[in-house]
Amino acid sequence: MKIVVHNDSARRWCAALEDAFPHAAVVTSDAPAEARQNADYLAVWKPPEWLLAEQTRLKGIVNLGAGVDALLATPGLPDNVPVVKLRDAGMASPMADYVLYGVLHFYRSFDAYVRLQSDARWAPRPVPDKADWPVGVLGLGAIGAHVAQTLSGAGFPVMGWSRTAKDIDGVDCHHGDAGLDAVLGRARTLVTLLPDTDDTRGLMDAGRLAQLPEGATLINPGRGALIDEAALLEALGDDATPGHLRGALLDVFATEPLPADNPLWQHPRVTVTPHTSAPTPLGGAIDQVIDYLRAFEAGEPVSTVNPAAGY
Ligand code: NDP
Repeated sequence: MKIVVHNDSARRWCAALEDAFPHAAVVTSDAPAEARQNADYLAVWKPPEWLLAEQTRLKGIVNLGAGVDALLATPGLPDNVPVVKLRDAGMASPMADYVLYGVLHFYRSFDAYVRLQSDARWAPRPVPDKADWPVGVLGLGAIGAHVAQTLSGAGFPVMGWSRTAKDIDGVDCHHGDAGLDAVLGRARTLVTLLPDTDDTRGLMDAGRLAQLPEGATLINPGRGALIDEAALLEALGDDATPGHLRGALLDVFATEPLPADNPLWQHPRVTVTPHTSAPTPLGGAIDQVIDYLRAFEAGEPVSTVNPAAGY
């Protein structure tokens, strides 16, 4: 069995896979061509086009992350090879921390206090009842469902939205267009944890941002393409003319790294983090990757990515 690994820490991944499969040839994508060609499996994050093009007998591709948008968009991705992706694999917990921090940031007015402190102003803000702070979570997958339940456990009323109907303890689950309207109409904080697909790209456009209640806040750790950035800036307004939305915490962007001249960097009510809400932990992910490879080799069923749905 030959496995080729391509990501930022490929050597560490190779060492872990060699331990699990002592008889396999495990190489990084910068190995000589003859060593990396004719692989049985690719374990990759954002693989270069040539790495896919030179393979002739792949049995499976493991995406070393939860989002498969970059992989599915890579030209030359064979359509007859099953693709699997990381499902939680240790990402749901740090993501829940990030989102809970974000919700509390707005709910407890830390965004306002940062600005008041810069003017040395002592101006206590009311602490609303949590029951009056419904949070909407778009995307109830391996990560989104855990985030929704964490927020619910912290005492916030949580509404969730997914493509298919769901039943999750402590979460008021919705789906379909009417379901989205119901979530957007009430969410004081909206969390977007959807994959980037043909159906979700640009979902939060000017019209949908306007559906959020006055003073609502947005947290996007999903994908930049979910939000129409120009519409978001419009909805936030500026200090002279504040808009409909109070603030945003953004981890992902249409262009990454976020260009230095992007106005989101300078916006007083936007917090930017550099796509770091839930990094892939080697420890959590390696066991899942090993399980996938063993299942492929044994011909056992694995839950594969649906290229038509895009996730
Ligand atoms: P999953 O694939 O497990 O779940 C995706 C969820 O989105 C599902 O609930 C799915 O619905 C829902 N969904 C997909 N398409 C639609 C649609 N058209 N309408 C409504 N709902 C839809 O993904 P994860 O939870 O693992 O991750 C979600 C995303 O988070 C990833 O795709 C990635 O983009 C992002 N991410 C970001 C990270 C970061 O560091 N910033 C780290 C990890 C992930 P259904 O349940 O019905 O299938």
